[in-house]
Amino acid sequence: MDAALRSLLDWYAEMGVDVPKVPEARPVRAKRIAAKPASPAASPDTPTAPATDLSKIKTLDALREAMNTFDAGPLSDGARQAVFARGNLEARLMVIGEAPGRDEDIQGKPFVGPSGQLLDRMLGAIALGADDFYVTNVINWRLAKNRDPKPAEIEICRPFIEKHIELAQPKVLLLVGGVSMTAMTGLTGIMKNHGQWQDVTIAGTTYPALPLYHPAFLLRRPELKKDAWRDLLSLREKLLSL
Ligand code: URA
Repeated sequence: MDAALRSLLDWYAEMGVDVPKVPEARPVRAKRIAAKPASPAASPDTPTAPATDLSKIKTLDALREAMNTFDAGPLSDGARQAVFARGNLEARLMVIGEAPGRDEDIQGKPFVGPSGQLLDRMLGAIALGADDFYVTNVINWRLAKNRDPKPAEIEICRPFIEKHIELAQPKVLLLVGGVSMTAMTGLTGIMKNHGQWQDVTIAGTTYPALPLYHPAFLLRRPELKKDAWRDLLSLREKLLSL
């Protein structure tokens, strides 16, 4: 048995699945030709905007450059660099986490540390490989001591994540952790809202969005993996239905 299959079966066992059923490895991504143009003006509902004018940004490369040169003040003071994204930017699934940690700050990519490895295994368990998703965060700079972001810091980053979604044009959003869920939906309480599909509207497009327990939380509370497994199956169903 190869290591990937062993790891998958271990994950099923942890989930409490008695007889492992390997999902069909049917591809769930679709090709897109081009990103749709950015909306000309920020939504009037956007509470604050960064000094950088993102309305002229038309590509993900330009957005990355805008982020790299943006002075987020104390928010970015302790970070080595802005952490933008990893994965397939043409994937139908966009995973939105909270904020980079130490490993992400060093490598400049989201979810590359222990919780990222668990995230990859969780998605792998529903037959999503590295090419099947695109990953970013609500907060783009590492916060000192990995503290939770303050609401004002989320608002500083909000124009970036909204533009990121608008340009990436995913079909489905996976909101990983309570910070991501609250930032994108306004809901509070991941314990009661995980697994409940929400609508998130950005620049006139409504995306189905699923709140999921953060892998770092599951590493501390492994008994919740069964719930996470149900949520992952719901995600799988949604991707297959689109
Ligand atoms: N946790 C997150 O939410 N995002 C990362 O990039 C890493 C850890």
